[in-house]
Amino acid sequence: MLAEQDPLTGLYNRRYVDAQLSLALMRLRDGGPELAIAMIDLDHFKRVNDRFSHEVGDDVLRELGELLSRCADAVRGGVAARIGGEEFLVILPGTDRAAARTCFEAPRREIADRDWAPIAAGLAVTASIGVVSAPGDGQRSSALLRLADERLYAAKAAGRNIVIADGADETSR
Ligand code: GH3
Ligand code: MG
Ligand code: MG
Repeated sequence: MLAEQDPLTGLYNRRYVDAQLSLALMRLRDGGPELAIAMIDLDHFKRVNDRFSHEVGDDVLRELGELLSRCADAVRGGVAARIGGEEFLVILPGTDRAAARTCFEAPRREIADRDWAPIAAGLAVTASIGVVSAPGDGQRSSALLRLADERLYAAKAAGRNIVIADGADETSR
């Protein structure tokens, strides 16, 4: 439905994913599956626009949309959304704390290793990812998103192109 969709990437939008997250957390409190939630932000994306063009940037965002929707579709009830300019949220139900990092390590590597030359010669793209688990990291949407954001910024501070799913001492690249 258009009201739930981001027009550029075809992913769900912020409003939809917020509602889905609340629903999934309600199910969790009723004995439903654990959740892994990732906040994903492209690294130095302003440079992509500056060095190439805004159109190239848009193409990258569309590709990201496809990649993240495949990631979400691999899990029953998985949702991928674009929540801001170059910021995405993915919810994977039934993914425990131990599996969460591995789940999001795959798209991180896929983004970094992809040949972006078909979009523009010399283009390289990476993303930083902050991951939280529910109920392990909390059960309230606002607290979980705040922590995911903190971990995302810890990933930026640690040098980018990194998934942070725990304390800052446990990083992966
Ligand atoms: P960082 O690694 O710290 O995230 O750096 P950054 O450059 O990605 O972050 P910053 O927030 O400074 O810049 C985000 C950029 O994303 C700026 C803006 O031009 C670009 N952007 C946001 N939305 C869109 C969009 O829809 N299309 C394109 N092409 N660019 C966008
Ligand atoms: Mg960014
Ligand atoms: Mg950003």
